[in-house]
Amino acid sequence: MTLPPFLASRHVAVALLSLFSASLGLVALASDTGVEPDPMLVAAEQAVAEAKAASEAEAKTATARGKKKKKKKAKNEKPESEAQMTLAAARAADEQDAMDLLRARLADRLGAAKDTPEAKDGVLRVGATPAASAAAPVHARVQAEAAASAVHTAGHAAHWDYRGSGGPDSWGRLKPEFAKCSSGTRQSPIDIRDGLKVQLDPVHFDYKPSAFRVIDNGHTVQVNLAAGNFIEVMGRRYELLQFHFHRPSEERINGRQFDMVAHLVHEDSEGRLAVVAVLLEQGGAQPVVQTVWNNLPLEKNEEMPAQSPIALADLLPVERSYFTYMGSLTTPPCSEGVLWMVMKNPVPISPEQIGIFARMYPMNARPIQSASGRMIKESN
Ligand SMILES: [Zn+2]
Repeated sequence: MTLPPFLASRHVAVALLSLFSASLGLVALASDTGVEPDPMLVAAEQAVAEAKAASEAEAKTATARGKKKKKKKAKNEKPESEAQMTLAAARAADEQDAMDLLRARLADRLGAAKDTPEAKDGVLRVGATPAASAAAPVHARVQAEAAASAVHTAGHAAHWDYRGSGGPDSWGRLKPEFAKCSSGTRQSPIDIRDGLKVQLDPVHFDYKPSAFRVIDNGHTVQVNLAAGNFIEVMGRRYELLQFHFHRPSEERINGRQFDMVAHLVHEDSEGRLAVVAVLLEQGGAQPVVQTVWNNLPLEKNEEMPAQSPIALADLLPVERSYFTYMGSLTTPPCSEGVLWMVMKNPVPISPEQIGIFARMYPMNARPIQSASGRMIKESN
């Protein structure tokens, strides 16, 4: 396009530069060097802010199993422009930082490659579209954070762990994208108590025997699932992406911790996350867990495709009353806006099965976070 003469002014040049560099700092610099406040600068700041919102919203929509093809690239803000990540980069990132959501993305790719243009060429595009900014709900931020984090972790490692210098107390300081781990006020896990007993909408599980791959990602054992497993709750339909394990259970119920827990991570078409937690308590053998253990890969960070499907429904308790609250991922980047549903009834797992996991991960549970007055509801 051609620029009218007035655009040659220094102020406007700075404003345009700020738009494309995504650096609000440049605008600030212009102000700091004696330039009078300029409506164009103000407008530029506004535009950058809007572009940022669009980028975040886009990061969300780009996740939904690649069903929406995105063409525009983010050029407005650094984290999102960096978020033009390749899935190969995401895979590399996973080797360093196995955050729940990134794992979800990998499962995503596994399940949806057949109908996903982005997945076909191996590139997950995370760009900005004006349309996406129109309806950018809070949870978009969750996805944007995760996408940005995936990019950063792909390039360099800031090792997070469950103890030592990379332990939970330092997660929030390891990198900017992990800030929520220390500053968040709706974090998980929590000690679940004093729930409001109400008639909760039952979780409808639509699970079927599914192809799966097991990965030991350095933080847990995770099962990435083929597409086609869903839950429906409170009018929303979420697809199961992956499940993984913690020992001991991260969540507590009235102070009680369980031997282990399985977290089943779901995502709806708008990128909202819903995690079903199934507490595991020492008892008889658990068939689904055994199937997973039977397929443990020999090497870390290498997915092992299983030869036969897994019957997921067998992992669920028979009686499915539950607690529910809003929380976060329990691993960096600790993104919030996650709907948690914790099954009240634990499922038995044998001492031998616990022992196998304990050999790999004796302790991979984040400490309890403050409930901060959050509402907890439970089936009556
Ligand atoms: Zn988990």
